[in-house]
Amino acid sequence: MPADQGHLIHNNILERFARLNTSGRLAHAYLFVGPAGIGKRDTARAVAKLVNCLAPGGFRPGCDCASCRKTEAGNHPDVYVVHREADRQELRAELIRDLMERFNLRVWEGRMRVGIILNAEDMNTVAQSVFLKTLEEPAPKTLLILTASQSGLLLPTIVSRCQPVYFFQLGYAELAEWIKNEYHVEPVEAAALARFGQGSPGRVRELGPGFLGTRNGIIDEFIMARDGESAVKAYCADRDSARIFLEVILTFFRDVTLIRRGLGAEYLIHADRIEAARTLAARYSDEDLDRIVEQAVSAIRGAGEYMNVKVAVMLLKELMRKP
Ligand SMILES: [Zn+2]
Repeated sequence: MPADQGHLIHNNILERFARLNTSGRLAHAYLFVGPAGIGKRDTARAVAKLVNCLAPGGFRPGCDCASCRKTEAGNHPDVYVVHREADRQELRAELIRDLMERFNLRVWEGRMRVGIILNAEDMNTVAQSVFLKTLEEPAPKTLLILTASQSGLLLPTIVSRCQPVYFFQLGYAELAEWIKNEYHVEPVEAAALARFGQGSPGRVRELGPGFLGTRNGIIDEFIMARDGESAVKAYCADRDSARIFLEVILTFFRDVTLIRRGLGAEYLIHADRIEAARTLAARYSDEDLDRIVEQAVSAIRGAGEYMNVKVAVMLLKELMRKP
């Protein structure tokens, strides 16, 4: 398995680190700032691989050299990843002390020691003061990477001693590429999932690889079917699934409307289901579509109350049933 398969790596940031590393201009400490689930951890691990990579041509994501393989497996002797233990509220100072002690040892196998502190805002104030000492007296050949979604919880003295690296939302193309590798789906399906997830990796993870099957079920067994009752039982059983059910209907009919206006696959959310959307574009008038979309929107608004949703869904089916 390629070493970086399924990782959410921000290539622009990785390339910046590659340039700094080649020219010997790496700083001692970096603070990766950005929303949770955006790929800070995976990118930090890729940087840890990069600085110790043994590949002759330099590091590329997916590198399978001995050093990158160890970092991936979590057993590289010079790469330490620290995070809050699952049963604790805070990241304990002992873990930071332990990291500092390791930094005082020699470099074992790599060119550099890398310490990664995940969700650094989990450090309690004692841990943060201990950590501050590491920043004030940096050991040679060390690289520290902190990740944080709320850097406001970190001591200003820590923030000011780290180079900030900001993580912004991935583009749809990068997200689709990640989905394709992570879920082993066709590119056109990956694109549909990225668009339906509104470009948010966190939302895409929530939907999961099973989403495409669910969505196809909703399209085939409810939207395209004459009678949709069994689909409602299967895909609309609680409040959360009802919401997804309605969003699939809404976004699919949005696609149908765009096809009727002469727009092509590149404008669609469910481009991989364009044939089904074309069938409906021929079946319904613009007025029909307006009514269906309007009803779907009002059903989503009422989705907080599950009983209303069931009624709204059956009303929707009524509108979709052409004589
Ligand atoms: Zn490598």
